[in-house]
Amino acid sequence: MFSPPIRISQGHLNLLETCFRKYQHIYLDQLGSPIEPEQQESLIWGSQFHLLMQQRELGLPVQIFLQENAEFDRSVSSLVQAAPDVVNLEDSTGREAEHPRTLTWGRYLLVAIYDLLIVRGDRAEIFDWKTHRQPQKRDRLARHWQTRLYPFVLAETSDFTPEQISLTYWFVGSRPQSLKFSYNTVQHEQTRTDLTQLLTQLQEASDRYQTDQIPFPQVSLAKKICSRCEFAARCQRIPNQRISENKEKIKTANFSVSLDSIKEIPL
Ligand code: SF4
Repeated sequence: MFSPPIRISQGHLNLLETCFRKYQHIYLDQLGSPIEPEQQESLIWGSQFHLLMQQRELGLPVQIFLQENAEFDRSVSSLVQAAPDVVNLEDSTGREAEHPRTLTWGRYLLVAIYDLLIVRGDRAEIFDWKTHRQPQKRDRLARHWQTRLYPFVLAETSDFTPEQISLTYWFVGSRPQSLKFSYNTVQHEQTRTDLTQLLTQLQEASDRYQTDQIPFPQVSLAKKICSRCEFAARCQRIPNQRISENKEKIKTANFSVSLDSIKEIPL
């Protein structure tokens, strides 16, 4: 029987690297935890900003919206001033907003959506708008799967060599800042190795779970991340007195795998 490929985004890869059991709880058991109102507000703001930038790239009128929303207006104006060579629309050739790319990987489909892709001569530049208030640390971002997957998928699905590709994050706000990551063949091959390892483990864990109901492996206690996890009670990784408290926080949800929601998972 034909089974459609399973979509894997950078968000899934980060989650797998954190804890396989957490991936099981969220994507296979469809357990989710309620989003705090503050986080919800920030997600909405982020997704509206992405939509606004996409509409601007498409040449659709955004002025009326900006006139009525001072914070968006300030953020877009600041970005235009800080990155004129990126957001200047005078030359619209070789650029596309919300550019999607996919790469088949066995039973999986690796998915990348670039907020903006600009091709200048023999170089391909990927841009990503980050709507967190604070820029993230470079070394942390370098390890993040978005930084690794996005150039990897582009190099695998185009004529660009790794050395011709870069990824730049723009942290938007009143004082926008950017972090640029160049790419090269050594990084590309390391990512290939790491992807092979991670997705082979996922395939094996999924098979064991589906055929013998063997749960996905839990993260090592030595990593000390369970106390901050919403599934700590379910995983029996917190003292008994905190279990009932924790249970309250977890609810069964119709959790659909939305790429939009994955995009702005805090790095
Ligand atoms: S409590 Fe620990 S083992 Fe369980 S899902 Fe969370 S991180 Fe993984």
